[in-house]
Amino acid sequence: MNEDFRLLNSDSLSPSHPFWQFTTDTEIEFCLASKDPDGIATTGIVRTYTDSTAFVEMDSPKYTVTGGSDSWDPTQYLNLWVCHLNDGLGLLGYAAFPADLATDPDLDGVVISYTAFGYIGTATAPNDLGRTGTHEVGHWLNLRHIWGDDTCGDDFVADTEIAEAANYGCPTFPHNANSTCGSGVDGEMYMNYMDYVDDACMNMFTYDQGIRMQSALYGDRAGLLTSLGCSAPTGLLNEGSLENGFKIYPNPSNGSFTVDTHMLKYDDISISVYDLLGSKIQKFENIKSFPFKMDLNDLSNGIYYFKINSGNKTITQKVIIAK
Ligand SMILES: [Zn+2]
Repeated sequence: MNEDFRLLNSDSLSPSHPFWQFTTDTEIEFCLASKDPDGIATTGIVRTYTDSTAFVEMDSPKYTVTGGSDSWDPTQYLNLWVCHLNDGLGLLGYAAFPADLATDPDLDGVVISYTAFGYIGTATAPNDLGRTGTHEVGHWLNLRHIWGDDTCGDDFVADTEIAEAANYGCPTFPHNANSTCGSGVDGEMYMNYMDYVDDACMNMFTYDQGIRMQSALYGDRAGLLTSLGCSAPTGLLNEGSLENGFKIYPNPSNGSFTVDTHMLKYDDISISVYDLLGSKIQKFENIKSFPFKMDLNDLSNGIYYFKINSGNKTITQKVIIAK
């Protein structure tokens, strides 16, 4: 995203291209948060276990109660969820516009399919160059599709050629020249990040798009200008909250439990086992590696509680032994 927004992308138009004159460095940059809303150090990444194999409801990734993860204060952070979207919709991602921040703060942010996020790992061609992020964050900063979501529609930006409709795949220049919408001899600006072409075929924002995004940063998104999200933290590194950080399985079990975590860094972890009456039965200390196997086969059937302690934080999870 920083390469694309700062015109540092290696595939930018050449200066001899007719649209080069519109190509711009938007002067907008992003950083992974170094400080979470509590002032605690963070990698800026929250990893969350979910039982949801595919998110069908548009807003479900945005709430912990629906298997997703609650957002951080959207006036201070860009929240970006990466997850498995419902395949049937063929959706790569979606974004909230700045004007909706005040009325729907919980829904603010960007959701992207894990198959279209970044350019390594699970990113899959032709959406494997990170441009879904560039496109969706463009929306998040108030940009519209260049065809204005209508036949010859308006995107409220003066220097993007009028487009008849969305473009797909990888058109060749000039594309749809002298269209009935008045695209001119150079045709449509299909290589704009706000069109629908393949990642490898989009490479530019225009000057006026940059101005429109900067206006959003001085308007509805002005909170970001004073955000401390990228400043030095005051506490220990904590990737993901402790609450979301552990998984105990199987549960119920016959007494053999496995505790696993996605947290990359943690303080010394201990797990205490309590019975229903609150008596401590067993304690596993100084746990250094995960997955961690616990043998509680000697205990009788019933409900127990695991208190997982990391540093000065403790979470409690209910487990059931049923043989
Ligand atoms: Zn879009």
